[in-house]
Order: sequence, then structure tokens, then C-alpha cells
Amino acid sequence: MLITNANIITWESNNRVLENYAIYIEKDRIKEIGTTKSLTAKYPKVKAMDARGQYVMPGGICAHTHFYSAFARGMAIPGTAPKDFPEILQKLWWPLDRSLDAEAVRYSALACLVDAIKHGTTTLIDHHASPNAIDGSLDQIADAVDKSGLRGVLCYEVTDRDGQDKANAGINENVRFLKRLAENPNPRLAGTFGLHASLTLSGITLQACRAAAPEGTGFHIHTAEHESDEYDSLNKSQMRVIDRLQKHGILGPNTIAAHGVNFDAREMEILKETGTWLTHQPRSNMNNGVGVAQIESMMRLGIKVGLGNDGFTNSMWDEWKTAYLLHKIEHRDPRRMGGYDVQQMAIYNNAALANQFFPAAPIGQITPGAAADIIFVDYHPFTPLTAGNLPWHIIFGFQQSMVTTTIVAGKILMKDRELLTLDEKEIAARAREIAPRIWRRYEEEVSKVFGTEVSTSKNKAPEVIREVAEPEDTPKPPKAIQEKTHPKGSKQDMIDAIKRLKEKNAGSS
Ligand SMILES: [Zn+2]
Repeated sequence: MLITNANIITWESNNRVLENYAIYIEKDRIKEIGTTKSLTAKYPKVKAMDARGQYVMPGGICAHTHFYSAFARGMAIPGTAPKDFPEILQKLWWPLDRSLDAEAVRYSALACLVDAIKHGTTTLIDHHASPNAIDGSLDQIADAVDKSGLRGVLCYEVTDRDGQDKANAGINENVRFLKRLAENPNPRLAGTFGLHASLTLSGITLQACRAAAPEGTGFHIHTAEHESDEYDSLNKSQMRVIDRLQKHGILGPNTIAAHGVNFDAREMEILKETGTWLTHQPRSNMNNGVGVAQIESMMRLGIKVGLGNDGFTNSMWDEWKTAYLLHKIEHRDPRRMGGYDVQQMAIYNNAALANQFFPAAPIGQITPGAAADIIFVDYHPFTPLTAGNLPWHIIFGFQQSMVTTTIVAGKILMKDRELLTLDEKEIAARAREIAPRIWRRYEEEVSKVFGTEVSTSKNKAPEVIREVAEPEDTPKPPKAIQEKTHPKGSKQDMIDAIKRLKEKNAGSS
């Protein structure tokens, strides 16, 4: 394939904007870049795709997302609104993930993948949970990703919040899926080992995960998203979250720690020393009211910080804009979080992270030999656009609706806004058929924990409709869950008590 009449943004380390250029693609790689005139002369028989002067650049990368969150769109939370992040987990995300069955897992992923193709996000690192449909859930998502043509890095969030059996099932699902990928590699699929958050993981389960993870596999875990994660870790182990994870061998250059809103200086230092990735999700942090991570300090320290969306829309430029604005208002200083810092996270760091999972060819740049993951953007700047001022054109001018064409590994997934691999109407129609069943189960799950007084809305005429978009993290499992899974005096309850005592005595978890 030959893309002609393109204004190429290469996103090389020394970024270039090349006007009226062409890209010659062979199979899944970019083979050659040159002027439109020179490459059309060189490849006269190759089918040309006219970019008509659009900006042509590498597809976007999302460093942390949750495909399972799609059915939260427009869903009412029964009873009083959650007052803080622990309540958001207990009233929204945990009952919702318990409501998902295999078909819902699949359609939740498909809905997000349609959104990703339309918004030009071509590589997504997902963090999945469906406690009542664990076995094979990563296959459901992998099949959806494969069908979409996008790239995905998948894992299952292991947690103790639904009991020991489900924690084990989560471990097995990660191990099974990683083995499947090792035996049957797919160039657009990769895996990591998922962990929910320190707060819902015992020391024993963390050790079991460490032991089960294949050599060289990293972890993907929420960290210190809310202060409750730190308090829980200090209670359990007399250590802060990152110290505790380090103790259990969870950190390292292949591990992704999401959020880090409540890190102290030593935790940041440990991330730097271990080469662990940190991902920033400003829209989610704002929506949950959890605070603002010290992203600039972490970048100055040399921590590898990537940009994710935490289940918000896959329009990564919206995440750019939010990052750019949030740190200014937080510090009441318009000099904070400059455009180059956002670019560093979203472009260079995310590309380096994606390349760890897909080492076959460089991802995230338009250079000969790189993966042919390319988007067309119909943007007409009315001021000069250069490599130097590009971040500000993106932040103030680019809209994700300007993405007209999405190509991954040399395959066209959307051309002139027409989706070629997924049928959006069919997916949305089936998802709308499934949604009432999921919402009904969700209300049942909420009422199991909070009683029937909060489950009366039935999602028919909700009193409050919240626009919700992000899942996951940290607080203490509510009492009702603990008692349900580990009745007082039960064997598990005693094991837990002994474990707590041991942890206390050992000064560790
Ligand atoms: Zn998350």
C-alpha cells in the first residue's frame, strides 16, 4: 500500500513534520518514506491511498484502560451517591464487574474497541475483572481485539475481595492466557499479570501471584489511587503500598503501576530504582475526586510515566488536554505541566511501554521498519504547525472526531470514517439488548451489600443519572462481603487471623 499526499508527523525522538510525503507499506511494516512525487514514481503499480493533505501520524496508545466498564454508561447508582472513592468501588465498580457474564465481557470490550478505532487509539493496555465469569474471560477479550484489528495487552485483575477460590481462578486465568500466547503467538496480542490493588490482596495471594507469573512477565496493578490503599497497606504490613509490592517482588521494568496519587517520596524513589512504569489517568482522578498525582516530580525523578484513560473514552487527546489543565489548576500556576511533558508521557513514554510488549517492530513512529499503525487526521491549521509547537496544536486544536482513517499492522480498520472490521450498529444493538440484564444483576449485587433500600430504582426512572466512566481500585471490602466469603469462625477467617498476626510479628505482609 502507498499512502500519498500526506503531511506526516513522524513522532521520532526528533519529531518531524513532512509535507506532501508518501509512505510505502509492505505487509505489517512501513518500508519507505519519501516525497509523494518520488514514491509514486518508484512504485507506479502499487495501489495508492490518497491522504488528501491530511495529517498522517502513528496511532495513539493507551497505557491503562478497562474494557469491562462499558455497561456503566448511563447506569444509575441506587441510593445515595457514593461520597468517596471507596464507596464508588463498593457501589459501582465491584457490583458491576460481578454482574458481567461471558457475553457481556465480549460486548463490553467490543464497544470500547469500536470507540478506539474511531478515535485512532491503536494499542490498548487493558486491566480486566469479571469475578463471576473468570475462566476464559481473557479469550473473550482477545477474540474481540483480534477481530477489531487493534493491538491489545490483556490481563486479569487478581483480588481477594471475592474469596480465595476466585483469587485462585484469577491467577489461573492470567497463567492460562500467558501460556496460550506463548504457545500461539499473535503479533497484535500480548499479556501481563493483573493484580487489582494492594488493598484487596493479602500477602499470601501476592506471593502466589509472584510464584505463578512466568519468568520475565511483569504485573499491572492499581497503586495508591486513594489514601485508603496506603492506610490498608500500613495496617496490614507496616509498609506503604510500593514498599509492600517491592517486598513481594511485584515491581520491575515490566510492571505497570497505575495512578500513584498518594505516593510519598520514598515510594517514588523505589519506582525509579526498580524501573517500574507509572500511568497517569487525569480524567478518572478528577471524576473520582481522588486528588492529583505528583506527575511532574515523578518525571523529573526519572520515573517512566505513561498516559492511560482508566475506562474513559478512547480519545487520548482528551486525556492530553485534561493532564495539561489539571496540574495548572491544582498548583494555581499556569506554568505547570507544559505541552512537552504531556507529549513525553503520551507519545514517547507510551510508545516505549508498547514496544516492551510488541518488540518485533517499533510502534508509535513513522519510520522505515516501524509497525504500520497509522491514523489520518483531518486538521487544517490556521497558524503555522511545526514539530516545535505541535503539542499546543494538539491540545488546543485537535479533536478526536478529526480522525478519518485508522490502520494497524498495515490493515485498514477504518477508511474515511467507515469501520471495516467491526459493525458498530450490530455491536451497539446487541449491547443494548444485554444491558438491562447486566443492570438488573448489578442492582441485585448492590442490594446484597447495602440492603434492599438502595436497590429500588431498578434503573427505570433513576433519580440520579451519573455519567460514569472509570473503574477500579482500593478500599476495604465492605463488611457484608467479608462475612459472606469468610464467615466469622470459619476456616478462612482463622487463616486470615493467623496471617494478620504473622504479618504483624514479621513486620511485613
Ligand atoms: Zn484503572
